[in-house]
Formats: sequence, structure tokens, C-alpha cells
Amino acid sequence: MFDPDDLINFELCFPGSLTGETELECPYCRVLLTVPVNDPMGEDSFACCECSGVFDVNWAEGSVKYQRPTE
Ligand SMILES: [Zn+2]
Repeated sequence: MFDPDDLINFELCFPGSLTGETELECPYCRVLLTVPVNDPMGEDSFACCECSGVFDVNWAEGSVKYQRPTE
């Protein structure tokens, strides 16, 4: 079971239309990642190449969901 308090959601502003790939910041370490957009109306999961943090992107809503880092 997920503790909802451990999931963080934030809105993204995507510039223009989403095609091919886009850049977004890793919610954990703030490194700028270039990620593929396979389905602009769907969701995708990505793993940061710097910190290995995993997060979900909902392209349709323009939101990112990630787990609160454990201390
Ligand atoms: Zn990262």
C-alpha cells in the first residue's frame, strides 16, 4: 500500500506541443533530462540517469508524480 503522503505531485509547463522528446527536471536532483514522449496523452515512467530516481509523468495533465525521498 502506498502512503499518499509519500507521493508528491507537481504541475509542469510544457512549452508548445509535445512531440518526440522534451526536457524536464529530475524532481530529485534537478538535473535536466531529455526524455522521449511516446504518448502525449498518456503516462510514462522515467528513471533519472544521475540519481536513479524514478518518477511518473502524466503528459495529458502536465504533472509529475514522484516518491518523497526517504531520509
Ligand atoms: Zn535525478
